[in-house]
Amino acid sequence: MLTLPSPIQSITFENQHFYLKRDDLIHPDFSGNKARKFHYFLHYEFPNIQKLVSYGSSQSNAMYSLSVLAKMRGWEFVYFVDHVSDYLKENPHGNYKAALDNGMVICEQQARKREQFGNDVLFIEEGGRQREAEYGIRLLAEEIIAWQKDNSIDELNVFLPSGTGTTALFLQKNLSLFTLDSSLFTKVYTCPCVGDSNYLQKQFKQLEPDAKLYPKIVALQQKHHFGKLYRENYEIWLKLQQETGVIFDLLYDPLGWRTLLAHAEVLQKPVMYIHQGGLLGNESMLKRYFRKFPKISSE
Ligand SMILES: *Cc1c(COP(=O)(O)O)cnc(C)c1O
Repeated sequence: MLTLPSPIQSITFENQHFYLKRDDLIHPDFSGNKARKFHYFLHYEFPNIQKLVSYGSSQSNAMYSLSVLAKMRGWEFVYFVDHVSDYLKENPHGNYKAALDNGMVICEQQARKREQFGNDVLFIEEGGRQREAEYGIRLLAEEIIAWQKDNSIDELNVFLPSGTGTTALFLQKNLSLFTLDSSLFTKVYTCPCVGDSNYLQKQFKQLEPDAKLYPKIVALQQKHHFGKLYRENYEIWLKLQQETGVIFDLLYDPLGWRTLLAHAEVLQKPVMYIHQGGLLGNESMLKRYFRKFPKISSE
């Protein structure tokens, strides 16, 4: 059902060589890293579950991927969201529309808590920020280690942009554990896209007490607001497409690449960038970019 291991390709961007781990190609309907994070729920049987419940924003990649999961498993899917804009209600598109098409029931109400539901409900935290995510991310770590061995790449820096930080944290933890007694050294670098570095550090702490297993956080000087439109983000997104032929996501990857290129210390060793998917979300981001910067739609 899932295409694993995901392929790894070589790309050149801004005259630098990178290995690109194509987690975006794992499944046509799952959004890249959500296929990793929700792998556990695809793999095991949940005979008592009738309904999947989660919460978050009205255009999230996780929401869409959960709608796919629920459809595959024959579960009802209820999603709590604080607010859906009138524009989106009248013009459903992107992740929102695709999730509705999969049968998602949307509840415009404050997020619920796990305790409020019975045993027939599988409750998933916003963005899949929970322990079960480690199952699929451990497999990602295994794929990377196997590839390092096959290609005799002893030292590798891995970069990926973070939302909740769940993927980066479980990736570093498992890479560290797998390389304990070997000559391999695999370091994960990540940047915060949703909050700041402190927020990300707190997220790590909630999932893992041992700080030695945390990824290294790198960030740009300027403040960055999640989901806000930045001309620099659109520009690097377009340039990536032109120079590498790969389409990246518009929410996380532009900040990821800008941050990576600004940190020369990360680039001193071979670097692997994890493409975490999210392309369905580009539809709504591009609409907004074209409305805000009418000129770019003709570029
Ligand atoms: C969800 C998502 C992320 C963030 O993953 P976290 O595990 O929450 O840090 C990054 N990129 C894309 C494309 C995503 O869909």
